[in-house]
Amino acid sequence: MSILELKSLSKCFGGLRAVDDFTLTLAEGSLNALVGPNGCGKSTLFNLITGLMRPDAGKIQFKGQNITGWPPHKIARLGIGRKFQVPAIFEELSLRENLIIAARKNEQRAAIDNILEQINLSNEAHMLAGELAHGQKQWLEIGLLLAQAPSLILLDEPTAGMTAAETHATAELITRINRERSMTVLVIEHDMGFIEHLACPLHVMSKGQILKSGNFKVIRNDSEVKALYFGQSEAMPDA
Ligand code: ADP
Ligand code: MG
Repeated sequence: MSILELKSLSKCFGGLRAVDDFTLTLAEGSLNALVGPNGCGKSTLFNLITGLMRPDAGKIQFKGQNITGWPPHKIARLGIGRKFQVPAIFEELSLRENLIIAARKNEQRAAIDNILEQINLSNEAHMLAGELAHGQKQWLEIGLLLAQAPSLILLDEPTAGMTAAETHATAELITRINRERSMTVLVIEHDMGFIEHLACPLHVMSKGQILKSGNFKVIRNDSEVKALYFGQSEAMPDA
């Protein structure tokens, strides 16, 4: 069963077609990655899905409801959670306090403990969020999303600025969340090592549209994708 259906979505900024007749369906409980060069429209797509921007054309269907044009808070309440590139955490509060606030209700201690474990921060629970390393802050923000219990999580470049080890751990963390919480996940990412480790379907975006979909091996060896990435800093690794 599908949880999210994007049908012929378009969004223009002046003469620029940032998202252009974009169509994608996500199966409930699936993990998918969206990749593509800078400026191809990935973040704009997330802005459309979360209601921060209104599409010029097209339709967004979530859990069987047409949510096109809905305001962000209503879409969030229906179960779409998004992580931005810059973490929005309370630096002067502990990790546990951050999670309790995000849950907006009297979460069971066990539920918070479980989230802390899933984001690899059990030992840091008492620390102030501001004391965390950069990568750990990103994980905490994923934890804050989990505390809100969305059914679809949108992650925009969750490994930005991370070390190789943190990037690797993040891929594992996302895979675990998807499997253990049966949350549907759509992740935007540049880092191809990370994408390979996710081992999920990939959708390569170019100029506002999906150029190719497939698994990592198929995408890595595709001539059109290679041409798209040629000369880009986020070049594909050798086959
Ligand atoms: P990506 O996330 O893939 O790097 P974006 O979705 O951020 O790409 O941007 C797609 C294109 O739309 C870019 O050319 C960008 O400059 C443009 N763009 C994004 N947001 C706006 C905006 N609010 N106003 C005008 N142009 C924008
Ligand atoms: Mg972006």
